[in-house]
Amino acid sequence: MPSISLRPWPVAPRPFDEEAFGSWFGRIASRYQLSVIQAWEINQLGTFPPLTNAGWILFTPVPESTLKILATLARLDVDRLTRIQTPSDWMVDRPNLPYCFRCLVLNPVDVTAPRWKRRWLDPNIKVCEEHGTDLECIPASIPRRARNMNRLLSLVSEYRRRLRETTWFKRY
Ligand SMILES: [Zn+2]
Repeated sequence: MPSISLRPWPVAPRPFDEEAFGSWFGRIASRYQLSVIQAWEINQLGTFPPLTNAGWILFTPVPESTLKILATLARLDVDRLTRIQTPSDWMVDRPNLPYCFRCLVLNPVDVTAPRWKRRWLDPNIKVCEEHGTDLECIPASIPRRARNMNRLLSLVSEYRRRLRETTWFKRY
């Protein structure tokens, strides 16, 4: 392990307790207008880990040593990052990713910061715990194609808009 002096990031979005690690790191990348892979490499966090077909939103559990580096960079307690790790048995390929659009865009803690909830990555989830409604889905290729969280959010909105148009045409 090379010894590098760690200078904390000038600005670091805080992770939300219910957020997925990929979502938090995707927001960091967005903050610095980088892709998730670039943000990982620039910060010398080691080899970018292999991911599933859903890309960085479903981020591989990160080793303790890397979490410590990230905690220093973000001026966080390492526990905050340990808590948002993806359980390793969730790391499976999947055709779709379920999510609740209302929960995505209306973060009660900070309305300016949409975030992807960790529990949406559970391969067996179907219903929004908050609203009791069936979850919507996006194809797994959308997060895989998105370079960071901001880009993912605009691709999700675009997908929803197109979906509504298609439904409209089918109906009339
Ligand atoms: Zn919801």
